[in-house]
Amino acid sequence: MTPPSPPTPTLRRRALKLLTSGHYDISTLKITFAEASSGGTEMCHVRLSCTATFRGDVYPVALAFDLASKTFCGPPKSLGACVTSCVICSHMVGELVLISIIQSCTKSLEQLKLLLPEPVLEMQALQVP
Ligand SMILES: [Zn+2]
Repeated sequence: MTPPSPPTPTLRRRALKLLTSGHYDISTLKITFAEASSGGTEMCHVRLSCTATFRGDVYPVALAFDLASKTFCGPPKSLGACVTSCVICSHMVGELVLISIIQSCTKSLEQLKLLLPEPVLEMQALQVP
């Protein structure tokens, strides 16, 4: 299997914008361990909800990691709900960056949640005075 292509500068910019604009809700973080059906390797799936950029839709982005080699597995093992997630998309790259922040952070998830941007849907739900 060929690894996914490296992200383009535009894709990286969009991923950073998603992350800094509160499109990920860290309270939806779910981690699942499973054995891959092809090859029997043990996998870890990290799943987060991501709010679409222009619509208010929220959809899951699930990234897969091979635990034996400690590597990221691109699609089809990693999945997003958008059209471009069959290759790799800004939603996946943004989640990869967020996962690396979580891994390197010494704070609890609750403390980290306070440091991250407010989820965009919570901001939209606030009444404008
Ligand atoms: Zn996507």
